[in-house]
Amino acid sequence: MGENKASEDTDRRIGRRALIVGGAAAAAGTAVLARDELARLWWRVPGVEKPREPGAVDFAGARWVAASEANWRRADRPDDYGVDMVIVHVTQGSFDSAVRAFQDPGHKASTHYIVGQDGRITQMIRELDVAYHAGNRDYNERSIGIEHEGFVDRPGDLTDEMYEASARLTARICARYDIPVDREHILGHVEVPGTDHTDPGPHWDWNRYLKLVRAARTAAPDTKALP
Ligand SMILES: [Zn+2]
Repeated sequence: MGENKASEDTDRRIGRRALIVGGAAAAAGTAVLARDELARLWWRVPGVEKPREPGAVDFAGARWVAASEANWRRADRPDDYGVDMVIVHVTQGSFDSAVRAFQDPGHKASTHYIVGQDGRITQMIRELDVAYHAGNRDYNERSIGIEHEGFVDRPGDLTDEMYEASARLTARICARYDIPVDREHILGHVEVPGTDHTDPGPHWDWNRYLKLVRAARTAAPDTKALP
């Protein structure tokens, strides 16, 4: 399950935005703006943020259900933060309970995707944005988080349908951001520095998963374009 210390996720990128906006403002001959004003204005600068369509998903076939805005941070990846990791989680609960948790502003955590035992995929946060799932700000900023429906101590929860659907999703993410399909870049929540979480647990079959991701990656080599 995702987790994060929200207080640590304060907006470091405003500094970088301020530089970008500052440059644009100077070019336009605008007087120097206070840092606070820059922080409020950055989103108005053309080209700084990609257009968004309500309900749009980053993976064809995913169903969109919005997470509470308290559980993620608006960003403009991969332009402001490069994406070079996929982090695998197991929900420790049902699919529906995970959806509800990420809709709950008090939960303070969420992942981009949830994959069900029947292979369905729900997207709750755009890949552009930073989801609070790894419990580590740097890892959150660099990664896409995927939850899988089940419990870490129940091997039967990890179904063929879930592995296959998740592998197609991860293959697509790896294609889009040029992420190598290996265990350096596709990792479990348990492997994130500083975490006390154990998911996806000892029954998650990494060899099988990476094999499926490689197969899906080869079957649809694809481009980095959005679907
Ligand atoms: Zn987790």
